[in-house]
Amino acid sequence: MTFRALVVDKNDEGKTSASVQELGEERLPEGGVTVAVEYSTLNYKDGLCIGPGGGLVRSYPHVPGIDLAGTVEASDDDRYAPGDKVVLTGWRVGEVHWGGYAEKARVKADWLVPLPEGLTTRQAMAVGTAGFTAMLAVMALEDHGLTPENGEVLVTGAAGGVGSVATAILGHLGYEVAAVTGRPEQEDYLKSLGAARIVARSDLAETTKRPLEAETWAGCVDAVGGDMLARVLGQMKYGASVAAVGLAGGAQLPATVIPFLLRGVNLLGIDSVMQPYENRLRAWKRIAQDLPMDKLEAMIEPATLADLPDLGRAILKGGVRGRVVVDVT
Ligand code: NDP
Repeated sequence: MTFRALVVDKNDEGKTSASVQELGEERLPEGGVTVAVEYSTLNYKDGLCIGPGGGLVRSYPHVPGIDLAGTVEASDDDRYAPGDKVVLTGWRVGEVHWGGYAEKARVKADWLVPLPEGLTTRQAMAVGTAGFTAMLAVMALEDHGLTPENGEVLVTGAAGGVGSVATAILGHLGYEVAAVTGRPEQEDYLKSLGAARIVARSDLAETTKRPLEAETWAGCVDAVGGDMLARVLGQMKYGASVAAVGLAGGAQLPATVIPFLLRGVNLLGIDSVMQPYENRLRAWKRIAQDLPMDKLEAMIEPATLADLPDLGRAILKGGVRGRVVVDVT
């Protein structure tokens, strides 16, 4: 028995290359559950794992894909039986363990969640790690007191995966969303998802010596980090929170502690990879409830395994809009 997979290999000079290959099932890694993968997706991290590795991939040849959704084919764990629909995000699958860019995956039962009620496997992968993380960010802001009455909520990296889903969820929940983008041509797209107004990336890109600026944002979902996050911290309203999700603009944080001390601003770290099972279920339930499926559909760019090397390069340059859904079959 064989299956198709996107395999990344590394040559003696350390250069990686990716190609679709037919593999024997004996190549699958160890794990209690074998999944017939139907859909996967593309996240920023996948761009790294398809290409240079970014220090995430431990050994080659490697099958990337940090997310997968499909049907259980075989299971030695009581929680899952053949025919069950399942979803996997995180747990370093697609990084240290072979991932979802294959017709078959073998994983630990602990890493799976049942396909959330109301979602298809395709919709679950349109959400993927990016959308799951956007929901975790919104939940964290709510847990720290955010309500639509508090004022405008900023979403940075808005036309990307995390940003698109965050914009759609917040818009649906009645928030006034200000969407930051470096791609002015995406204005109509972002407004169709639920953004009330667009903020040019250049408006927030420059650093300022002033640790505090006008109190503007009631909350922020930040996919960018770096100078932009530092600037946004100084623009938060009194007691407001920023959910720090990503580093598309850099891993540094050239900020002062003044917004924390004088305005009680909160910086909330969001990690999707090691989220405990119960919170995963909570987030997926909220996604099925609060992410309008027509908006999710509008974010989708369909792709196949063969498209992934090009798409992987594109996402690392901030050139992918919304969510790529990979039809693996
Ligand atoms: P995308 O590439 O889809 O989105 C990132 C967006 O950021 C781009 O579309 C672009 O939006 C903006 N951007 C890109 N480069 C820059 C730059 N130099 N300066 C400012 N803005 C920039 O990636 P994802 O949405 O999948 O991921 C976003 C970030 O979140 C990544 O850093 C990723 O690693 C991180 N992440 C973290 C997770 C966690 O568990 N904490 C989980 C998932 C993702 P626009 O064109 O609109 O400006």
